[in-house]
Amino acid sequence: MRQKKQGADGEKKTSLPGSSEVAGAHWLTERKCPECGKSFCVVDMEAWAYKSKEKALCSWHCMRAVEKRQAEKAVKRRIGSVERVQLTKEQVQEMTAMAEQGKGWAEIGRAFGVNAQLVRYHVQKAKVK
Ligand SMILES: [Zn+2]
Repeated sequence: MRQKKQGADGEKKTSLPGSSEVAGAHWLTERKCPECGKSFCVVDMEAWAYKSKEKALCSWHCMRAVEKRQAEKAVKRRIGSVERVQLTKEQVQEMTAMAEQGKGWAEIGRAFGVNAQLVRYHVQKAKVK
């Protein structure tokens, strides 16, 4: 089953005449990247792609770094002591393969007799390496 992708590219954002240029430099805000400390300018915070929560970051690279850290922190909080359960590399590989086949975390967890959050944690951790 194929679906034609539409909307994302087909639709144009409504923009005011002339707004494509940096008219009014007053909405140019200089910010400091909380990740690397570099100064950069945000023309339009709404349209700024590199942000994490309400903080603007200078680049995709920094955004990824922050997101990765936050995701790891969040998962650690959630699974707590479960994290200490050790899985072999082979188990993680198998879990990853199952996830790629579209199996849910809970289903994979049941197959291995572990917590679904743990499965997710290890599969995602393996992926970012
Ligand atoms: Zn940065």
